[in-house]
Amino acid sequence: MNITVYCGASASKNEVHNNTAIELGQWIAKSNYTLVYGGGSVGLMGLIANTVLDNDAKVIGVIPEFLMKRELSHPKVENMQVVKTMGERKSKMIELGDCYIALPGGLGTLEEISEVISWIRIGQNNNPCVLYNATGYYDKLDEFLKTMVNEGFLSKEDYSKILFAKSMEEINVFIKNYTPPKIREYK
Ligand code: AMP
Repeated sequence: MNITVYCGASASKNEVHNNTAIELGQWIAKSNYTLVYGGGSVGLMGLIANTVLDNDAKVIGVIPEFLMKRELSHPKVENMQVVKTMGERKSKMIELGDCYIALPGGLGTLEEISEVISWIRIGQNNNPCVLYNATGYYDKLDEFLKTMVNEGFLSKEDYSKILFAKSMEEINVFIKNYTPPKIREYK
């Protein structure tokens, strides 16, 4: 299985977030899965790629040409797919993935995971989406999604299809039992 991971291109000031990247990388390697990620060698991106590589598992990087220097394209990732635009990078990462997981990160991470989540309901993504929230980093986003449900902008069913995971066990169970929700209709 290919696990597409979205995460910060920066390392966090808070060490606990960096540890989540190592933990997720170890889980991917131990499960014999392949990591698909943004191709950088710095920040949480670099940490997860190094963890998967150090544990002899496969890594696919997807990086736009213009970011190769800036995000320091990972020299040890043999399968580095170089694309032209950010849009192509996102499409490729979605196409290659069987599951999408966000680690803590910034606006880039938020944008990428929001896109795949929002595509579920319109029938453009049949794969599970997870925010790895072991550190509570995404608690406020979870609260905001509950506000969306309360205000009528997100259905309860759609909300229930997004996992804010506290552990790898939760992710395992969620992936195994995942079924996409009904395609959205507008009233
Ligand atoms: P960040 O979470 O902001 O550190 O960014 C994580 C990754 O997302 C980096 O590789 C960025 O290049 C990428 N990124 C930033 N903005 C966007 C965007 N609007 N669409 C897709 N990827 C983005």
